[in-house]
Amino acid sequence: MKHYYQPEIETASREEILKIQNEKIVKQVKYVYDHVPYYRNLMEEKGVSPEDIKSVEDIRKLPFLTKDDLREAYPYGLLGTDLKNCVRIHSTSGTTGKRVVAFYTQKDIDIWEDCCARAIVAAGGTDEDVCQVCYGYGLFTGGSGLHGGSHKVGCLTLPMSSGNTDRQIQFMMDMQATILCCTPSYAAFIGETLAEKGYKPEDNKLKAGIFGAEPWTEEMRKGIEESLGIKAYDIYGLTETSGPGVAFECEEQTGMHINEDHFYAEIIDPDTGEVLPEGSKGELVFTSLDKEGFPLLRYRTKDICILSRKKCSCGRTHVKMTKPMGRSDDMMIIRGVNVFPSQIETVLLKEGYTPNYQIVVDRKNNTDTFDIFVEFPKEMFSDKISDMQSKEQDLKAAMRSMLGIGPKIHLVAPKTIQRSEGKAVRVIDKRKLHD
Ligand code: ADP
Ligand code: ZN
Repeated sequence: MKHYYQPEIETASREEILKIQNEKIVKQVKYVYDHVPYYRNLMEEKGVSPEDIKSVEDIRKLPFLTKDDLREAYPYGLLGTDLKNCVRIHSTSGTTGKRVVAFYTQKDIDIWEDCCARAIVAAGGTDEDVCQVCYGYGLFTGGSGLHGGSHKVGCLTLPMSSGNTDRQIQFMMDMQATILCCTPSYAAFIGETLAEKGYKPEDNKLKAGIFGAEPWTEEMRKGIEESLGIKAYDIYGLTETSGPGVAFECEEQTGMHINEDHFYAEIIDPDTGEVLPEGSKGELVFTSLDKEGFPLLRYRTKDICILSRKKCSCGRTHVKMTKPMGRSDDMMIIRGVNVFPSQIETVLLKEGYTPNYQIVVDRKNNTDTFDIFVEFPKEMFSDKISDMQSKEQDLKAAMRSMLGIGPKIHLVAPKTIQRSEGKAVRVIDKRKLHD
């Protein structure tokens, strides 16, 4: 028997979903026009009025919002209701610059937690589960979102927040946690620490993990699943749209269902802004359909992915997005070649290395330098320097065939690259400092 948190909506027919979206979008656009002067101005500049929006098809007439708009309107410029109606503020982690703040009414929180509850149930969660939340609590959305979802499902919730890995492991074992929620890089670190303490994957009671908030590859998924003895599910979201739970993975693990009754997704060409047909790779754009505190229409996420309406074996009908391949601003251009950190991670893990790596890009004598520091697994160590050098050469060749350019590889001893308890910092681009 299949389980859903809100079965009617999660398995609604395409027509039913469209009907809900069409009704909601008309109201949401009018609401934004009436309450958010910043966006009303953008609409007026484009010559669009709320009456022009009769269905989600008409969304493409609306202007885009970008992170720059959010920064310009900081802090209250995009607020959709009086502050006295809001009950909470969250903020981005500031991965790519100045923070953005988002506001929530109680209704917004309720919907957000429903979305996270859908994700937990899709990962097999029930009220019998013990859900250990080690995303950071606080301004970051990860902790509160999954915490709220876990309560809604009725799991026994362990509000650990991130960090203090020894304590995480002690509670995981003593309280027999069955579901783990954190960033994939922290999950990998917890797996590594468990092994060091002499635990085998079958020693813990975990069955599933809900990991997101940063890009991670299929290879990394495999490593985490093996080290913890679980099934690892992806979850996606961003502060601007509420937080994690905008989209989540089901047991098929072939992309994340977007909660289409609350968010309308488009894929656009990041250069021209043109809406692309289903199946195209491009920038994900979200329109909130029922937000009060921080409603955003056509928000450009900078995340690059593909949408698919292929029937899913889980019975959910909502459109799926592929794992984001990284943000458009994560992409590095090194000696004229486009490089995504996720491609590098794929090669490293395929070649038997650990997900502990750092990419350093710099510019010397007008040429880009490109270095990858990666820990070798203990078993790979040889005290013959030539052995290690030949491993570096092999890895360089594998990188070259994936990326089109060859980085300088530095194999470093286990445990020398700093572990992350939240979002991992993979890239250090020193060129930006010189510009
Ligand atoms: P910041 O932009 O400062 O990191 P957020 O914490 O709001 O702030 O992060 C949202 C971003 O995190 C998304 O736009 C996306 O780039 C990334 N992200 C979130 N979940 C995932 C995921 N499952 N896979 C890949 N990237 C993700
Ligand atoms: Zn599914």
